[in-house]
Amino acid sequence: MTSPDDERSRHQHILEEARRFAHEEVRPRARDFDERGELARDLIAKMATQGFLLARLPQQYGGLGLDPVTYGLVTEEIGKACCSSRALMTVECSLVGETLLAWGTEDQKRRWLQAIAKEGKLGAFALTEPEIGSDARGVKTTFEARGDDYILNGRKKWTSFGAIADFFLVVAMKDSSATVFLVERDQPGVRVTPMKGLLAGRAAHLAEIELENVCVPKDRMVGKPGSAFPYVVGTALDHGRYSVAWGGVAIAQASLEAMVTYARTRTQFGQKIAEFQLVQGMIGEAVAKIHAARALCLRAGELRQRRDPDAIMETTIAKHFSAQIAMEVATDAVQVHGGNGCSSSYPVERLFREAKVLNIIEGTAQIQQQMIAKYGLRKYYHRPSPE
Ligand SMILES: Cc1cc2nc3c(=O)[nH]c(=O)nc-3n(C[C@H](O)[C@H](O)[C@H](O)COP(=O)(O)OP(=O)(O)OC[C@H]3O[C@@H](n4cnc5c(N)ncnc54)[C@H](O)[C@@H]3O)c2cc1C
Repeated sequence: MTSPDDERSRHQHILEEARRFAHEEVRPRARDFDERGELARDLIAKMATQGFLLARLPQQYGGLGLDPVTYGLVTEEIGKACCSSRALMTVECSLVGETLLAWGTEDQKRRWLQAIAKEGKLGAFALTEPEIGSDARGVKTTFEARGDDYILNGRKKWTSFGAIADFFLVVAMKDSSATVFLVERDQPGVRVTPMKGLLAGRAAHLAEIELENVCVPKDRMVGKPGSAFPYVVGTALDHGRYSVAWGGVAIAQASLEAMVTYARTRTQFGQKIAEFQLVQGMIGEAVAKIHAARALCLRAGELRQRRDPDAIMETTIAKHFSAQIAMEVATDAVQVHGGNGCSSSYPVERLFREAKVLNIIEGTAQIQQQMIAKYGLRKYYHRPSPE
C-alpha cells in the first residue's frame, strides 16, 4: 500500500518527466510535424511507453493513475511544446480512454485500453458529420440490428487521429436515439480519407470516415442502447473539455514566453521593444489572463478530484475562458513579433493558428456561452424583493 506522500511524489516525478520530455523530445520537432502534416510514429510510440496517452487512467488498465490536477499540468507541458501532441493525449486519454473506462464492459476496457497502452494502437472519437456539428443529437449515421450484430451506415468528418487510428468510437442513431459503437478500422465497409489543407491541427491526422454496411458484433456496443446522449458522449465531451482547457493555457503560456523573449531581444528606436509601454500593456494583460485561466483549470481539476457535481460546469467555464484567452494572447504574441510573427520561423505563427481551433472543438464558443448562460440564469436568480 503506497502512502499519500509516496503517491504525491510519484505524481510530481511524472510531471517533471513530462516537462523534460516535452522540452527535449517534443518541442524541437513541433514545427516539423506541422509542416509535414503528421506526428512522427516514434514520438507517438514514446508517448505510449511513457504512459502519457492514458495518463489519467488507472494503472490496472495501463494508465499512470494521475489525479486530475497533475494530469492537467502534464497536458499543459506537452501542449506548450506541440498542440498536436497534446491533441493526441486529449483523444486517447480523455475522449476514448475515459469513455471506455466509464461505459465499457470489463472485456472492452481490458482489450482496448491495453491496446493503446501496450500494443501501439490508437483510438479516435467520431461524433461530427459533414452535416452535423453543434447539433450533435442530430447525427445521421444509422444502425440497425441484424441477428446478433448491428449494421452501421453513414459518414463522419473531422475525426482527430482518424487517419491513423485502429478503432473508432462511432455515434450512430436509430429511431431518434443514439448509441456508441466501437468500430475497427480494418472492418469491411470502413473507408478512411485523410483531411488536408487545414488551418490548424495539421499534425493531428484528421480524417473523414465512411461506413457502408459495416457489421459490428453486439459486444462492441459501448454503454446501453440509446445511451449516447447524455451519458456516453457527455462523458467524452466533459473529459475532452477538461483536456482542451489545459491546452488553451498551454498555447497562451507558450505565446507569452515567446512574446517576452522577443520583446526583450528586439531593438527599435534605440531601445528594446519591451521598454515601450504599449508592448508592456500586451504582456501585462497576457500574464493576468493566463493566471486566471490556469486558476479556473486548477479549480475544475480539484472539483473533478472530489467528484463534485459542479465539476462539469466549472470545466465548461474553464474551457471557454482558456480557449478565449489563448486566441487573445496568441494574437498579441504575433503583434509583438511584428512581421516575424507572420513567419513559420517563429512559433507564434503556429500558436496563433492552433489557438483558433480551441474555440471550435469540444463545443464552439457560442454553444458554450449558451450553456454557461443557462447555468447563470438558474444559479444567480434572486426573487426581487422590495427594498
Ligand atoms: C481541428 C479539429 C479537430 C476536431 N476533432 C474532432 C474529433 O476528434 N471528433 C469529432 O467528432 N469532431 C471533431 N471536430 C469537429 C468539431 O467538434 C466541430 O467542428 C464542432 O463541434 C462545430 O461543429 P461544426 O463545425 O459543424 O460547426 P456548426 O455547428 O455548423 O457551427 C457553425 C457556427 O454556427 C454557430 N452555431 C451553431 N449552432 C448555434 C446555436 N444554437 N446558437 C448560436 N450559434 C450556433 C457555431 O458556434 C459556429 O460559429 C474537430 C474539429 C476541428 C476543427
